[in-house]
Amino acid sequence: MKKHLVLAGGGHAHMVTLSNLRRFIEKGHQVTVIQPSEHHYYSGMGPGMLGKTYTPGAIRFATRRVVEKMGGTFVLGRITRIDADARRVYIESGNSIAYDVISCNVGSQVPQNMIAGPLDDIYLVKPIERLLDAQRRILELASRRKLSIGIVGGGPSAVEIAGNVWKLTRGPGMQPAIIRILARTKVMPHHPEGVRVKALASLHRRGIEIMENCSVQSIRTGKVAEGSGRTHELDIIFVAVGVVPNPVFRESGIPTGPDGGLLVNRYLQSRRR
Ligand SMILES: Cc1cc2nc3c(=O)[nH]c(=O)nc-3n(C[C@H](O)[C@H](O)[C@H](O)COP(=O)(O)OP(=O)(O)OC[C@H]3O[C@@H](n4cnc5c(N)ncnc54)[C@H](O)[C@@H]3O)c2cc1C
Repeated sequence: MKKHLVLAGGGHAHMVTLSNLRRFIEKGHQVTVIQPSEHHYYSGMGPGMLGKTYTPGAIRFATRRVVEKMGGTFVLGRITRIDADARRVYIESGNSIAYDVISCNVGSQVPQNMIAGPLDDIYLVKPIERLLDAQRRILELASRRKLSIGIVGGGPSAVEIAGNVWKLTRGPGMQPAIIRILARTKVMPHHPEGVRVKALASLHRRGIEIMENCSVQSIRTGKVAEGSGRTHELDIIFVAVGVVPNPVFRESGIPTGPDGGLLVNRYLQSRRR
């Protein structure tokens, strides 16, 4: 009997499946791809897009166009729940879609538990599309005044974001921003010392401030507060504190590991049975 395959998300992990979609359709199966954006952005080039090294078009995959060209159905939407017993997936809009088989690639997200209030002038480094919003906002403000921009986090994404914000605010007509990295321990603590030294030298050369042992406790528009009580007034704040699994599995009552990631067997199948 012909089946309905639903692909939840069309990110990096689903790329090969997406490029082979036609093979499912040719066998008579129905394929639906559900994703909150019509495009998927390549994260490795996201900071470079922020700094204008790449255009958005150069770093994104046209998910809707590819799916439809191959004979599949694309549904624009965010999955909020999977009812694995009823084999039905629910979307933010309130609609639901029945499936025979679901393959999940809903990615990870930046935790928001430190953030209080709305996300005005606060930019999480995922989804990558948000970096484009940040770029527009920085260009708008930095053409009028000198900004202070903070990046909370100390890993490679924080370093890449800092460097690209530097490039963006050194462009023609821009007022050079003050850029500060607020790292909980050291910058790039999990990298070899040689890599760390090179990254730090590159940041120092550009006058990017590095604050290590800076344990940020709360973030709200315009202000970052450390556990020690010290605060930082910032016009724009990036949050690059790492990622956690998408909460959709835990919220759907599907077995997860301790961090909320989908629990799988060695065939990457859910271990609910
Ligand atoms: C700034 C930055 C730079 C990075 N640079 C690198 C790098 O240089 N090299 C490297 O190896 N890794 C890099 N990473 C890490 C990399 O992004 C991840 O490891 C990779 O994206 C994980 O792939 P994935 O397929 O699990 O998820 P993703 O590729 O993130 O795909 C998730 C998909 O799920 C969709 N989705 C999300 N929620 C829902 C929902 N509720 N319903 C339906 N669809 C949903 C999204 O739209 C997306 O299409 C970087 C990350 C960041 C944030």
